[in-house]
Amino acid sequence: MKNVIIGVDVGGTAIKMALLSLEGNILQKEQKPTPVAEGEDGVIQKIAQMADDLLKRAGVEKDKVAGIGIGVPGPVDAQNGIVQEAVNLHWKKPVSLRERLEQMSALPVFVDNDANTAALGEMWRGAGQGARNLIAITLGTGVGGGVILDGRIVHGMNGVGGEIGHITMEPAGGPACNCGKTGCLETYASATAIIREGTRAAKEGTSPQLAEALARQGFIKAQDVLDAAKAGDQAAVAIVDQAAFYLGLALSHLANVLDPAKFVIGGGVSAAGEFLFSRVRESFRRFVTFSYVAESCQIVPATLGNDAGVIGAGWLVRSQIKEC
Ligand SMILES: [Zn+2]
Repeated sequence: MKNVIIGVDVGGTAIKMALLSLEGNILQKEQKPTPVAEGEDGVIQKIAQMADDLLKRAGVEKDKVAGIGIGVPGPVDAQNGIVQEAVNLHWKKPVSLRERLEQMSALPVFVDNDANTAALGEMWRGAGQGARNLIAITLGTGVGGGVILDGRIVHGMNGVGGEIGHITMEPAGGPACNCGKTGCLETYASATAIIREGTRAAKEGTSPQLAEALARQGFIKAQDVLDAAKAGDQAAVAIVDQAAFYLGLALSHLANVLDPAKFVIGGGVSAAGEFLFSRVRESFRRFVTFSYVAESCQIVPATLGNDAGVIGAGWLVRSQIKEC
């Protein structure tokens, strides 16, 4: 009887791995630096080796493992387990991750994009528990998104479904985005955007508290802006208001099209809590069309933190097996 799953979250700096029960409980955890410089071979070998070590440490035989689920930072052909590209891993060509790791590990392998696995994690064991229609958004360096309809991730034609961060919020004159366009949601609601605006306020002298933080640290963190806003610094409040305004507006568009039960919002910026969430809900209600959608749709904080990725990667395996 197979009774455990291995969930993996591959990032540009670390490979996180967990041994999970079939219910999605974490039994063991492991984290190692990603050997990006060793290329795709080095990274795939590292994953296989970490999986072996994890099983050994837990005293679990390989024939008890239902499979390995992996989230990777890039567009994925989930059907075939092929990573199209992964900028943070320096993978510029498609990599047959499933095929190669199955050969190396002799276990079934399932692959998806990391924002999607984070969304699945929140659906399975986090804030989304019980919701079959859910959209997860991560406010970090960028703005990541995963769209789940009727319990399944929306991949789209090219594997880039759910790229919420690059919805255009300002058609002209918005800040430059990493994707090459301007005015994307990410340029207003990411930690990077909040840092950019906070640094500007500090330098222009509109925020005494941020000017003091810049002088003391030499730089501004997103947390500095959130703290200053909560303390009543008007320039900092305006920055949070702007991020919440655009996020609520983007969520209203998504709700008009998809009518989800929940938006689950995670990532560093979401740590601002109700101060941010109440503003996002206000903007959402202002722009969403149908009053019953405004009333039924919940906008809630993610609850799994850094574990969402490995748990959701485990769900890739769990959703493939009927009963073990
Ligand atoms: Zn963009």
